[in-house]
Amino acid sequence: MDSVSCHLVKGLPSVREGDDLAGMIVERFPLRDGDVVCIASTVVSKSEGRSKRLEEYVPSARATEIAEDLDKDPRFVQAVLDESEDVLLDRPFLLVATRFGHIGVNAGIDKSNVSMGRILLLPEDPTASADRIRRGLKKDCAVIVSDTCGRPFRCGVAGVAIGWSGIAALRDWRGKRDLEGRELEITLEAIVDEIAGMANFLMGEGGDGTPVVVVRGLEHPRSGGGVFRPRELDVIRDRLKAEDRRS
Ligand code: GDP
Ligand code: MN
Ligand code: MN
Repeated sequence: MDSVSCHLVKGLPSVREGDDLAGMIVERFPLRDGDVVCIASTVVSKSEGRSKRLEEYVPSARATEIAEDLDKDPRFVQAVLDESEDVLLDRPFLLVATRFGHIGVNAGIDKSNVSMGRILLLPEDPTASADRIRRGLKKDCAVIVSDTCGRPFRCGVAGVAIGWSGIAALRDWRGKRDLEGRELEITLEAIVDEIAGMANFLMGEGGDGTPVVVVRGLEHPRSGGGVFRPRELDVIRDRLKAEDRRS
């Protein structure tokens, strides 16, 4: 990879349910084969009608109890529970596994860049969204759907990939050699997260209105792997669960 460039797609309007995101991108940016198109999950969700009114949610007893502990709106907590397959922590914040495998605080539900009284759920299946958008781009591109997330052990939020298409999630270094000629045995590199991090940096978190970044000049494997750690290999999750049972 001699030279890689990143380009913000300018002039995208406020995205609404039913909008053809691929078409909106193609109209505003001359894509080339090989480009990696990174899209903020926020606009994917908006186009898929994942914006909901809080009034739509009727909180269960459990949601009400958690909401009291966390000093949150019980309807918001119900929305988080509805999007979750498993609750890892219910205090001091709600850390859950979404149905598509991503683990995040509040199931990644956003209240920023959304109109008042509404919440924005993550796409139901962001990899399916990435597949669909990629087909609409007309060029041979890869698509990464990103979200800004907090990270355990580290301060500050950063962009990660929650869906991808036309690109491998992981680059496999196993069997390659290091500088000393030793064979690498375990390194799987989460390339979609690395690319999403840079793209997210360029998008901004506020009112910039730039949810799409095109990365040009990357060489990457086309398919393979996933970034959601399989449940049986997740020792941290085991420990959290064990801790939860003790309390
Ligand atoms: P998230 O990281 O996917 O949760 O998305 P953010 O809320 O951080 O927004 C990422 C970028 O997309 C920011 O530059 C926002 O201003 C922009 N953005 C969010 N919604 C829209 C929209 O409907 N239209 C446009 N043009 N930009 C948006
Ligand atoms: Mn978000
Ligand atoms: Mn963001």
